[in-house]
Amino acid sequence: MNIALVAHDKKKEAIIKFALSYKHILTKHQLFATGTTGKKISESTGLDVFRFQSGPLGGDQQIGAKIADNEMDLVIFFRDPLTAQPHEPDISALMRLCDVHQIPLVTNLAGAEILIRALEAGFFEWRNLINRNDIEG
Ligand code: PGA
Repeated sequence: MNIALVAHDKKKEAIIKFALSYKHILTKHQLFATGTTGKKISESTGLDVFRFQSGPLGGDQQIGAKIADNEMDLVIFFRDPLTAQPHEPDISALMRLCDVHQIPLVTNLAGAEILIRALEAGFFEWRNLINRNDIEG
């Protein structure tokens, strides 16, 4: 599975702890992240993470483009609901594309715990059945 990881600044520690806790599961998948989130996760866990631009510089939109191309299977997004983000339109667009394309999206630790356990149990194998080239523009 291709998994996108994003965390706003006040949630970076939380996503690092999450990634450390579930490293044994995450390591079996292809990981992608916005710039700073990816850097911190790979430094803290040793996991191999492909890094897009930092969120405010377009990283959320790059993940959105992957979703539009059917190249992202899950999105784990630790949002900070109490701080205004300069790139709020990009964040909304990313979440909207998850809804458009039926991509499982969680936006907090509680949801991420459920999603990662479902991933481990194989609940998302249906994503592998989708022909990635069978998407009409
Ligand atoms: P960052 O971006 O990982 O580069 O900090 C996350 C975001 O704020 O969307």
